[in-house]
Amino acid sequence: MVVRPGTGWPGDRATSRTAVARDAAAVRSLAGSASAVSVLSARVSVCRACPRLVAWREEIARTKRRAFADQEYWGRPVPGFGVDRPAIVIVGLAPAAHGANRTGRNFTGDRSGQWLYAALHRCGLANQPTAVAADDGLELIGTRIVASVRCAPPANRPTPEERDTCRPWLVRELRLVWPDVRAVVVLGGFAWANLWPALRMSGISVPDRVPPFTHGLEVPVDGRTVLGCYHVSQQNTFTGRLTEPMLDAVLGRAVMLAGGRSALAV
Ligand code: SF4
Repeated sequence: MVVRPGTGWPGDRATSRTAVARDAAAVRSLAGSASAVSVLSARVSVCRACPRLVAWREEIARTKRRAFADQEYWGRPVPGFGVDRPAIVIVGLAPAAHGANRTGRNFTGDRSGQWLYAALHRCGLANQPTAVAADDGLELIGTRIVASVRCAPPANRPTPEERDTCRPWLVRELRLVWPDVRAVVVLGGFAWANLWPALRMSGISVPDRVPPFTHGLEVPVDGRTVLGCYHVSQQNTFTGRLTEPMLDAVLGRAVMLAGGRSALAV
């Protein structure tokens, strides 16, 4: 079982009448015509365009992990989380099978999220350091978190076709929020590689030659700054490839680029 749209799940913006994309053409059409972030989020959350990912996310929601056996799983695509007019956008890879695919909210309910939200709280971008469930009271400050691919993929690896099919959701979301954005923090090489075509498709002017992903890299884009940051995956945090000071430095830089904490709190 997955959560049916409009049945009261915290943060669910879809209803039983929300249009469902069932193929790549429909994703392009429904994303392109979304007039607001709320409409886009609703449409994303009921998308069924990638057969392999739909089957996987729903199978995970049905079989569950033993530790969460008594919980209902979201089992749907995970829309962006945070404010609708962000100064800072954080771009990740895809929902985790037993994290966001379970809770319905990006980076919520897994170790990666523990890292990320603790850092966001330290930097003044979240009202609390923890994220365990969609109704836990967490609010972001001046910030929005989006995934490159909106469904949990097996082994955290979407296929190139799935990445391309999902990209119009990101393209439209970037276009809708861009007027307020000052900094984009990109978590990891997959999201980095996917961001540039998405920005171009959004009509945003990007450099002809984009440098390869590196932690701490900054690229000016259309009066904003795109920042590279190692992903908060356990693979990186357990091994010390990404440390708390490294993550705080990138997020702190984004806060500075966005005008400081006081500007974000408005
Ligand atoms: S990955 Fe994206 S395009 Fe594919 S089903 Fe999920 S939301 Fe739809």
